[in-house]
Amino acid sequence: MEALKQRILEEGIVLSDQVLKLDAILNHQIDPKLTTVMGKELAARFRDQQVTKIMTVESSGIPIAFVVAAELGVPLVFARRKKTLVGDTETYSERVPSFTKGIVTDIMVSRQFLHADDRILFIDDIIANGDAARGLIKIIERAGATLVGMGVVVEKCFQHGASSIREQGVRLEALVKIKSLEDGKVQFQE
Ligand code: 5GP
Repeated sequence: MEALKQRILEEGIVLSDQVLKLDAILNHQIDPKLTTVMGKELAARFRDQQVTKIMTVESSGIPIAFVVAAELGVPLVFARRKKTLVGDTETYSERVPSFTKGIVTDIMVSRQFLHADDRILFIDDIIANGDAARGLIKIIERAGATLVGMGVVVEKCFQHGASSIREQGVRLEALVKIKSLEDGKVQFQE
């Protein structure tokens, strides 16, 4: 997606070799036009997969996941980040390390909104080490639902998350792939 690459070059801030700040378009401010174009593109890639539900993790995945859900005409369920009650039988929960915050959080999904006959498309903003994705994938598996694939706005190829998810046999589509953030510069993978 050339338009997205351009916006990343113009508005992204390279904080280190590992972290790209995308507050201007993804993680703080949302551009509805760009988000709509991105969501439509991800929806198109999975349109033939009989998706019954979009899932994401709060909060940065929600805007684009909403567009994908609207395009495919299915509900969106976002995993909440919150402390789960020990022994809570009403929810699925997983403990995941947070890449940007450096802490461990619980993500949870109510059993009411995830069923064994669901075909799930998982949408997220950025994949780095893949911890958030692995947590949600475990929840989907525990519910007995089918994961048809995962769509992300940005894949950071120099971290192992996306490759390890693909090795699990999951189809993962990224709108842009970033090869490196070295020397303060964003290098895209073609
Ligand atoms: P992971 O669990 O794959 O390591 O990290 C996923 C989450 O961490 C993403 O949903 C994203 O919000 C955040 N994240 C990871 N890397 C970056 C980054 O380089 N920049 C920003 N802004 N967020 C990131």
